[in-house]
Amino acid sequence: MSDRKEVLCIRCPKGCRLKLKIGDKVVVEGQECKLGEEYGRKEASSPQRVVPSTVKIIGARYPRLPVRSEKGVPMNKVEEVIDELKGVEVIAPMKKGAVIVENVADTSVDIIAERGMEVQE
Ligand code: SF4
Repeated sequence: MSDRKEVLCIRCPKGCRLKLKIGDKVVVEGQECKLGEEYGRKEASSPQRVVPSTVKIIGARYPRLPVRSEKGVPMNKVEEVIDELKGVEVIAPMKKGAVIVENVADTSVDIIAERGMEVQE
């Protein structure tokens, strides 16, 4: 017996609609390249999402710094990641790509700055 599921491939802007047949093995259809097949297999076994958010930044022109997980975190950890970021404060200046939180919510994934921010003069 197998389950069927449809997901949108988000690996590139083309957005192929993937059909997954999940049984003893996973069959992916509808992809236009190998990345889509890999994405479909991951979605079938352990779906993950990159988490975008913001954290408080002190001393910069804007009050919030955009951040994101450096790679996908398991779907069942997304809420925990967002909760952990609620209490985080950083101080300007901040460089794009700087690690803001290591191993967020025990996922082995770091949260990084999505952009840099200078000190407000
Ligand atoms: S299957 Fe390939 S072409 Fe289609 S959306 Fe995914 S990455 Fe893009």
